[in-house]
Amino acid sequence: MALLNDHFLKLPNNYLFADIAKKVNAFKAQHPKVDVISLGIGDVTQPLCPAVIEALHRATDEMATAQGFHGYGPEQGYDFLRDAILKNDFLARGIRLDRDEIFVNDGAKSDTGNFQELIRWDNSIAVTDPIYPVYIDSNVMIGRAGVKGDDGRWSNVIYLPCTAENGFVPELPSQRVDVIYLCYPNNPTGTALTREQLRQWVNYAIRNDALIFYDAAYEAYIQHDDVPHSIYEIKGARRVAVEFHSYSKTAGFTGVRCGYTIVPKEVTVATLTGDRVPLNPLWNRRQCTKFNGTSYLSQRAAEAIYTSEGRQQVAATIDYYMRNARHMKQTLRSIGLKVYGGDDAPYLWVQTPADMSSWRFFEQMLYNAHVVCTPGVGFGPSGEGYIRLTAFGTRERTEEALDRITSFY
Ligand SMILES: *Cc1c(COP(=O)(O)O)cnc(C)c1O
Repeated sequence: MALLNDHFLKLPNNYLFADIAKKVNAFKAQHPKVDVISLGIGDVTQPLCPAVIEALHRATDEMATAQGFHGYGPEQGYDFLRDAILKNDFLARGIRLDRDEIFVNDGAKSDTGNFQELIRWDNSIAVTDPIYPVYIDSNVMIGRAGVKGDDGRWSNVIYLPCTAENGFVPELPSQRVDVIYLCYPNNPTGTALTREQLRQWVNYAIRNDALIFYDAAYEAYIQHDDVPHSIYEIKGARRVAVEFHSYSKTAGFTGVRCGYTIVPKEVTVATLTGDRVPLNPLWNRRQCTKFNGTSYLSQRAAEAIYTSEGRQQVAATIDYYMRNARHMKQTLRSIGLKVYGGDDAPYLWVQTPADMSSWRFFEQMLYNAHVVCTPGVGFGPSGEGYIRLTAFGTRERTEEALDRITSFY
């Protein structure tokens, strides 16, 4: 008899976006003629840039020849891409890394979910609240999160509220924690941490022997000089942080699948007998066992982002989304809503008017403005009273959505 890993039964049944889809479909069934605009789910809309498309075509043609065919590649990624990452994303910012501290992946979701395999189930974890659900759910699956209470909080998870009251800057935990998940610029709130604010966290981790999992998926959207693109811009971070990157939001790779994870050689964790073990060789061992590499085509596509054409084209698309974000923020503020984020990230975090619940405001937006947003409470208890809007829409649809919200409001 095969016995279940019954931690899976603790997972909430419904995935947030499935709940939303159900409500939207119910609305559409009742109002078949109404055109609904989605500013909800976090997928991009603009196509891949020409430099990436050319690289994909070239790589495809290579694969059609005996000499150019690529089968299994290195589990850690091809050197051509790791070198491009090293040079452009790190050396250019004064950060020194070794090539074998870079692990190319098939997107940051897999690695942010998988990396927790390397630490014991009984570590304590802290998360900012609201949060990208993958961090908690992957810990639930291994039994680390405990049980979910009626208040929506997991018993073994320390929640660090990020709300308008604290300016969306999490306070350092008052109790001991072993592992901290940080995502900046943040999904869902769209807010960022300055270098000084992130330094507090790195210093905390050093003082308290904690490990930081840092998700930098929205790094390319940063507009302000005092916002760090990588946690390794902070002195000492190489000893305490693992960092996850993704080309999904940077270059529209949500369907191509490629990103990378940085595991510095200095990051160590303790054994029960107090020895220190570096994570880098263990992650390498794990990847060689469970991962057979990101496709050659995806890695050639990612390499093209770092050419001068690629960089310009990718920057133009990010500009396009960030212009949406600015316009959304201005318009929504001008009609009296409290709006946060959107300055260094493609998300706006909007406070619901008159203390309305997230889901209630979601329904008002759907039924009155025919615009789909994401209820903030779906990202954690501190998201109650907020909704998330994305700037990933096309210009035309975003404008149209703003017009509708303005006239309904
Ligand atoms: C979109 C997103 C990612 C990227 O996931 P991929 O698997 O690379 O597509 C990672 N982290 C956060 C917080 C995200 O919103």
